[in-house]
Amino acid sequence: MTLIERNDGFDYDLRMLCSCGLPSPVSAADYVDGAHGSHMPCVHCGESLHYGPAVAALRDPDDPALDDSALNTLAWYHTSTQPDWPSPNFSADFVAGLDERDVLMPSREAFIAEHTSKALHVGTYEAAIENMLRRMNDELDSHAQFYLYRVKLDLDPRKINPGFRDENHEIASDISTLELEKDELDAVRYLNVHEAIGTLSLAIPPQAIRAVQRIHLPVPDLTMPADANDDLFIRGVVDAARRVSDAASELRVTPGERRRMELGILPDPTGAAKRHHELRHSSYEAVRRLERHLEDQYLPHASAVLRRVFTQAAAHWQEDCIDEYVWRYRALAALVEMPAHVRANVGAAAWRQVAAI
Ligand SMILES: [Zn+2]
Repeated sequence: MTLIERNDGFDYDLRMLCSCGLPSPVSAADYVDGAHGSHMPCVHCGESLHYGPAVAALRDPDDPALDDSALNTLAWYHTSTQPDWPSPNFSADFVAGLDERDVLMPSREAFIAEHTSKALHVGTYEAAIENMLRRMNDELDSHAQFYLYRVKLDLDPRKINPGFRDENHEIASDISTLELEKDELDAVRYLNVHEAIGTLSLAIPPQAIRAVQRIHLPVPDLTMPADANDDLFIRGVVDAARRVSDAASELRVTPGERRRMELGILPDPTGAAKRHHELRHSSYEAVRRLERHLEDQYLPHASAVLRRVFTQAAAHWQEDCIDEYVWRYRALAALVEMPAHVRANVGAAAWRQVAAI
């Protein structure tokens, strides 16, 4: 099955919609910094435009996903912690995993229906990766095994909503298969405004998927080559953390007492609590320096928006072991910096036909 790949890349800027109805470009860096109080003049009418997710516009006015007849020819992507997405046993597993006491009758049936009838979501490769990074910010998923799915769709091109739904007006993640059925639609095309801002994704029922290919993420043996300066920054973090812990043990007080000393509630005659506080600050700074170094070294082609999401997602690994964190960072960065390798990897995986569910 030959599918057409799209390459949006991760080094994107954004477009924001003015009340005059026309979009203006904004750089990803300005968007993240909230430059000028997140205001800029509209390039068309000159009015001041307050930018943010609420006015995010389609990034590419010629997005190939706007063409109903092209949807089945495109490679779609999805990331999930489920090893058998879209699982034919999802509903049964969900019900089996429910604790009788958690859900009281008679809301049980409605609860099950709500959670087992959610539409599935597919988007660009970049959107799938960004979605995974956002999910890694959730404690539950920060260390989870993720999978990348490459998806072949089987849609009736006459059963797609015209244009696209704006996620600002109707939350796409809430679309249910019952709603699709009611509207006699095979897919709802919608504009992403929270992740992969300005790209188009599809909400679909499981039957719309003909087949999937799958690989583990990060891709085994695919990692950004280590930089010679990594050790210097890693040592900075380790040394700073040791100084904090040495100072804490010298203090010989409980963490609660230390905090009260820092706040001036308890006396700090030798200034030891203040010194500890300063060392902790230097320790945070050392971590920030390592993070900036890693972003510059391993994400040279990522927009400021993506860098922010990436750094937050990877940070959950800092507490385990700083070397492991850096190794993990380089492996995840390969998904952003070497997308051709990743696409080739998943494109070579065996297809799994998705039976009617
Ligand atoms: Zn305008």
